[in-house]
Amino acid sequence: MADFSNSDFLTRCIHVGNAIDKETGAIRRPITMANSYRLPDDASTLNWSDPNNLIYTRTTSANQIYLQERLASLEGGEDCVVLATGVAALAGIFFSFLDKDAHVICTNVSYVAVYRLLHEYFPDKYGVEVSFVDTSNLDEVRKALRPNTKLIHLETPGNPTTRVSDIAEIAKMAKTVGALVSVDSTFASPYIQRPLELGADLVLHSLTKYINGHGDAMGGAVIGRNELIDKIKREAMVNLGGAISPFNAWLIMRGMVTLPLRMKQHSETGQKVAEFLEAYPGVTFVAYPGLESHPQHAVAKKQMHGLYSGVLSFGIDGDVARHNDFVNALQLIISAVSIGHDESLIVYTGPDDERIDYYPEAFRKNGFLRFSVGLESANDIIADLKQAFEKVGL
Ligand SMILES: *Cc1c(COP(=O)(O)O)cnc(C)c1O
Repeated sequence: MADFSNSDFLTRCIHVGNAIDKETGAIRRPITMANSYRLPDDASTLNWSDPNNLIYTRTTSANQIYLQERLASLEGGEDCVVLATGVAALAGIFFSFLDKDAHVICTNVSYVAVYRLLHEYFPDKYGVEVSFVDTSNLDEVRKALRPNTKLIHLETPGNPTTRVSDIAEIAKMAKTVGALVSVDSTFASPYIQRPLELGADLVLHSLTKYINGHGDAMGGAVIGRNELIDKIKREAMVNLGGAISPFNAWLIMRGMVTLPLRMKQHSETGQKVAEFLEAYPGVTFVAYPGLESHPQHAVAKKQMHGLYSGVLSFGIDGDVARHNDFVNALQLIISAVSIGHDESLIVYTGPDDERIDYYPEAFRKNGFLRFSVGLESANDIIADLKQAFEKVGL
């Protein structure tokens, strides 16, 4: 097989993990939906839970291995573990690296499952201690450090506020107490941001979002050094049962081929839509890392390679009913959860959300709209927003 270790990112998106199929000569690897693989002639000494040996699809599958190879290459990591969803990947990190004496520093605005796992389940069931801090404020992170801090978990840009945390500075701090740094980089994708190059130990993705990019398959991944990934494979992958379907792994491999093209387009349209919204009189605020008005724009500029992806949050002047009317007046943009799809998606979070107190003040008054800008033309997206604003009298 050709060696792509010196190839450019665009080339590796297409070729790493693919090969000519030995049996048919097909130039694309097939989907292997088998649950089991033929055992060696002497299986008497086999480790049945070996996460790197093809034995049983719950402990690894051919398509999973190809996808892991490609993701490790794109993030610049030694190894990768792929699981069924982004949440399975998050649980995999927490399950593998936290024990009863551990202390964790976690961003206080994060994906909701992180909040629940670290706010309730890990502290209540296993006695893990967690400090939730504003990780965009380096002093707050520094103050929260303890000798037994085992993990600092960041999400940057964060969901749903787009808050940006300085990965390189926090990685330096973590080293002083020997803590690992994990970064949920789902909003950026490896085309825009590569946390391992900035000193993080683990980078996590919901493959469901930009990496697959087409809204039709779920997956999650963690990338990092061999010994860290091996631990997640042996503890969480093999024993928690969150295996990815080979079909989904194959779909995600296909989706990833166009990752650079899509991320450029998402970012270009995201910027245009953010600027349109910021200038619109009925809009109360816009949070997008590409705007000068974003409180961490400078950090974003430094660590995101000048592209800011396609997710933004904004507020409109009006009560809950007006927000609902606005969303329902949209014709092109679909009201649905998830981000990073080809189609534009919008979600209204009301002022009674369980985590609303963690969000910046502007988000709290009447709730906010999280908008995942899709691959439709900027003109059509902006026209749809305009007609919906006019329909609700904004
Ligand atoms: C969606 C999302 C997740 C969870 O991923 P699933 O594939 O839905 O389990 C984790 N982190 C972020 C930032 C997300 O947007």
